[in-house]
Amino acid sequence: MEDPRPPRIALLSSPGQGHIIPFAELARHLVLRQRIAVTLITHPADPSAAVDRALFNNLPDEVDTICLPEFPPNSPNGTTKLETRVFETIKANFPHLRSLLSSISTSAPLAALVIDTFCIDALDVASELGIPAYLFLTCSCTALSFAFHILTLDASFQGEYRDLPEPVRLPGCVPVRGEDLFEPVQDRRNEVYNWFVRSTKRFYETKGILVNSFEDLEPEAVKGLKEADDMPPVYPVGPLVRTAPDEEHECLRWLDRQPRGSVVYVCFGSGGTLTCAQTRELALGLERSGQRFLWVVKSPHEREVNGTYLGDKGNKNPLDFLPEGFPERTEGVGFLVPSWAPQVAVLGHASTGGFISHCGWNSTLESIMKGVPLIPWPLFAEQRINAAMLAEDVEVALRPKASESGLVERDEIASVVKRLMEGEEGKRLRKRAKELRHAAACSLGQEGSSVRATSDVAREWMDRIGGIGGSDGK
Ligand code: UDP
Repeated sequence: MEDPRPPRIALLSSPGQGHIIPFAELARHLVLRQRIAVTLITHPADPSAAVDRALFNNLPDEVDTICLPEFPPNSPNGTTKLETRVFETIKANFPHLRSLLSSISTSAPLAALVIDTFCIDALDVASELGIPAYLFLTCSCTALSFAFHILTLDASFQGEYRDLPEPVRLPGCVPVRGEDLFEPVQDRRNEVYNWFVRSTKRFYETKGILVNSFEDLEPEAVKGLKEADDMPPVYPVGPLVRTAPDEEHECLRWLDRQPRGSVVYVCFGSGGTLTCAQTRELALGLERSGQRFLWVVKSPHEREVNGTYLGDKGNKNPLDFLPEGFPERTEGVGFLVPSWAPQVAVLGHASTGGFISHCGWNSTLESIMKGVPLIPWPLFAEQRINAAMLAEDVEVALRPKASESGLVERDEIASVVKRLMEGEEGKRLRKRAKELRHAAACSLGQEGSSVRATSDVAREWMDRIGGIGGSDGK
């Protein structure tokens, strides 16, 4: 018999701004556009509490937000890779998740549990409770195609992927060299590699995969996924980027005083870090370019490229690591912001004309939605795939070259910044960025492809609801 109580969807995000933001936006869309009640479950390991508060305050009342309990950090020796730490953090909370979902189910039938990649083992909790599970991927369809392909490579190639003789070519995707595949698969002996393979295998157990992308951005990759055998249905529902109003910040007032389209914005996401040497080269390259810049400076990290991802910002002033005299010499041309800037507002400001970005997927989508071309500077996760896609396929980015030592040197930085901000190439990329901005807005409009995809999956949830309470929820 059908349950007369209105159904609810639970969304389970992993920690990190790059995950919480798109999950919160998905919750907002489901409530406002699909009229579905949502519980958004988050993890406490996120340090940017003030940012989270602004984000959650922007959500409609019909979104319940629940944070799972706090527990001690699990990396006392600091050598465990970030992905393992996140994965373990989430797993430790499964008993709480189980009781939370059971308790929600007593007041409303749960039509679906939508989980983040790092939460993939919550599939077991969903199955125990008979709740259909879906995945929401905060990356591109191109990256998803490569993730599935790792399973084939895992079975067919013995060595490290950086030794693959040819770039990997997949239907509808930009060719990607082995060394540019996901950072976690670059060392097959590391436990993170096994986690990656095991998690990706489990994607097949889901009822469907929502992706924070849109058809016009990567039409062929979307088609490739939809046509693949045995694949759960794929729903490109993006671009879902932060809509909460950004806090007031003096860098926005500085931007007000700069000429239109004249400033290159530099930011490596919530967690990306450079070494001391690379920070220095970047500073000197920006200075040498003679262009205006707004730089979110983080303290360097010698070992990790994602050194501040879980908030380990240390207590040092990031500006202390800049070359001597740099802030004084660039005063008026450059504006330095330690650690965090209101990025969406910066990208949307008329004075911003380019973005040096680590190509985290949220930053990428935000840049596209604001029509700003990029200089990709990938650091970790799937960011090298994003960089290749943006430069070679979508053609909205100009990629700097690293020297043999791996450093991107000051002259290269100066040259690429000048080409983007002043040259003919820059003009072409800006035009392309504006076209994409339009396409992104259309995908979220009334008849847009992403709205249709969201309605399709929402209808599926509602159709399934009659089956809830059955043996396995399938
Ligand atoms: N962000 C911001 N200000 C900053 C750094 C990051 O507002 O100074 C936001 C940015 O707008 C994006 C998110 O944090 O929404 C970062 O997500 P992304 O996927 O780009 O990178 P990650 O932090 O996951 O590496």
